[in-house]
Amino acid sequence: MLYRDMPKTKDKLSILGFGCMRLPGGQTNVNEKEAIEQIRYAIDQGINYLDTAWPYHNGKSEVVLGKALRDGYREKVKIADKLPHWLCKTRDDMEYYLNAQLKRLDQEVIDYYLIHSLDGAAWDHLQSLGIMDFMDNAKESGKAANIGFSFHGLRDDFKQIIDDYDWDFCQIQFNILDKHFQAGVEGLDYARSKNIGVIIMEPLRGGSLAKKLPDQVEKIYRNFPTARSNAEWALRWIWNHPGVVTVLSGMNHKDQIDENIQIAEKAEVGSLSTEELNTVENAAAAFRSLMKVPCTGCQYCQPCPQNVNIPSAFTFYNNKYLFKQGIMNRGFYLMQLGDMQQRRPALASQCISCGLCVKHCPQHIDIPAELKKVEKEFEGKWTTKPLMFMLKQALSQGRKKRERTQDE
Ligand code: SF4
Ligand code: SF4
Repeated sequence: MLYRDMPKTKDKLSILGFGCMRLPGGQTNVNEKEAIEQIRYAIDQGINYLDTAWPYHNGKSEVVLGKALRDGYREKVKIADKLPHWLCKTRDDMEYYLNAQLKRLDQEVIDYYLIHSLDGAAWDHLQSLGIMDFMDNAKESGKAANIGFSFHGLRDDFKQIIDDYDWDFCQIQFNILDKHFQAGVEGLDYARSKNIGVIIMEPLRGGSLAKKLPDQVEKIYRNFPTARSNAEWALRWIWNHPGVVTVLSGMNHKDQIDENIQIAEKAEVGSLSTEELNTVENAAAAFRSLMKVPCTGCQYCQPCPQNVNIPSAFTFYNNKYLFKQGIMNRGFYLMQLGDMQQRRPALASQCISCGLCVKHCPQHIDIPAELKKVEKEFEGKWTTKPLMFMLKQALSQGRKKRERTQDE
């Protein structure tokens, strides 16, 4: 296993991290015995960064991770966990969730504590609730050794958040298709310029980039003289970037763990040749040519006066067709762009066709017309309202549980 320094903390973290969001057992359950075996196996192979969060596996991920780290495993690793800020209505709520997470994990300290899934609007809101004071206090009290955030917003907001606080680290989505999506490579470089280490999530887009790819893409990979799996191309490209400390992978099979560890053995910064980098660029271009909307995610069209998140709307729409994952991408679209997490909605239906964005688009996309299609696909069905209601209920579940506990 290779290790890279987290710039501010000087911790030597394994370049492959274990994401505990896809443990064996399904989305809302965990096969505890299997999960513990896999987590311990990964640690025995040198993985020392384990990532979990409040909502993963309906709250069971943190508990199982805590159990897996008994019997001498805790000392070998760093734990990352995340504040579910969408459940926090007050500064006290933040304290409550941090304490509850320590209890679930059966730990006294969380090594890497992140504010989960930030964007610009959520950050503004959390500042008004006193998040800075909460974060300072979490460190001073020794409950969180290092503070960071995970991000799902626009690049300019990412830079602003980076500048607003003395972060120890951050976590962004980054992969061969998302080079410019959300924080993107510019955000990665920006964080690096501020000495902030970056953890990468969604390196394989939920596994989609490791599975069978469209023929046009597979052909480009197969034409390269050295045979490599799709996962190897995608992961090696990420690890090639300076600034990347650890790449998280949600693993739930021993074979997967073995394959990823094997790939990680060769993944030094700058180890890919020009030919190899060109191959990945060509594969990504072939992917893009198959997209319904040729959006590169550059974000030149932002901000929209109606707050439509144009690149994200197109990304979810494209993903639906590229990976044939209609329900999943509609869910992501409604959760991330809808009014789910105490923030300003950013849906395609908010577009009033003013045309302001169009002149900034280097791809000359008829943005209002394409947004109409996105709206029809993702918001136009009778199931949208019940689906949004269900998603809101699921997201607020933790808070309701807490209120019940307090009433008792
Ligand atoms: S056309 Fe629509 S998306 Fe573009 S700036 Fe105007 S309101 Fe925003
Ligand atoms: S400017 Fe065009 S290509 Fe860039 S994010 Fe906006 S719609 Fe996509």
